[in-house]
Amino acid sequence: MKKHAIIPIFIPHRGCPNDCVFCNQKAITARQTDVTPADARNIIDSYLPTLEGRGLETIEVAFFGGSFTGIPMEDQSAFLAVAQEYKSKGLIDKIHMSTRPDYINEEILDNLIKYEADIVELGVQSFDPKVLVASNRGHSVEDVYRACDLIKSYGLELGIQLMIGLPQDSLESCLYSAKETVLMEPSIARLYPTVVLNDTELLRMYERGEYEPLSTDEAVAITKEMYKIIASAGIKIIRVGLKSTDLINDSDSDQNQTVGHTYHPAFRQLVEGEIAREDLEAQLLPYISKNAASAAFYSNGVSFSNMIGNSRRNKEFFAGKYPDIRISFKVDDSLEDMVFEVREK
Ligand code: SF4
Repeated sequence: MKKHAIIPIFIPHRGCPNDCVFCNQKAITARQTDVTPADARNIIDSYLPTLEGRGLETIEVAFFGGSFTGIPMEDQSAFLAVAQEYKSKGLIDKIHMSTRPDYINEEILDNLIKYEADIVELGVQSFDPKVLVASNRGHSVEDVYRACDLIKSYGLELGIQLMIGLPQDSLESCLYSAKETVLMEPSIARLYPTVVLNDTELLRMYERGEYEPLSTDEAVAITKEMYKIIASAGIKIIRVGLKSTDLINDSDSDQNQTVGHTYHPAFRQLVEGEIAREDLEAQLLPYISKNAASAAFYSNGVSFSNMIGNSRRNKEFFAGKYPDIRISFKVDDSLEDMVFEVREK
């Protein structure tokens, strides 16, 4: 059962002075009306009844979109005051926001503490300076380290978002970013393969032949290695890949149409399914070497679909590669999520 719910409030960063090559926020916000604190209240009010009776341990209000701490301070305060009101009534548990590393300083954090904010997620994207420059992020790696340290020094929970496949990116850069993320000790992380959206500089780079998106398989292979590094450090990976709803938040047009083949609606399952397959195959090899006739693969119910694989690809992989051993797939709910075991049948 899902124990955690996020009430997302999308606050576009109107007037964002940055020009990240992958971002289409400017094109979207140019056509959107401003979200107001009253809208935020309406969104929370409409979500709360749908969360009742679901056994949730934590409900968060999260200000996503552009860069929450980059909007004027009085606007931040007005939104935070709404969330704080629900928190003080016990209707929500945490206040969460996403922002950029260079929009973190003492004044901003003092204000977040005043309104009892809990989690600050930083859009780090990469720890490789050349990737940040090529993506025109407009902040340095030093900004990232400084912001992470400052957020933690205020006792706030830290989140880190990384992107895979940005211009000048590589497997080595991505693994380095994953390892640096672990050193920053966030409590949560998100991994987003880069998707080429309309109305972006990245699309123009692609059209000029200056940028080639990763294939889905390439993106899965890199993300899987990052996932293993980050998850094995005990950091909760709360998102892997964009959801389809992330691509259709601009309701009046096809502006979020993607180019290339990196996007996959079940990207997380592709990544977690690959990790399951590798793990199970390593555990199966002793059974193969002693010519066992059968073996049983176990996971808990939540991770069962990862064990089977997207479109049953793991099942088919084992049947094709190891035809002489009969493999059954079973549930053992005493296992943790993403723990797989091979046992004698
Ligand atoms: S991704 Fe970059 S350009 Fe887009 S809203 Fe955020 S900071 Fe601004």
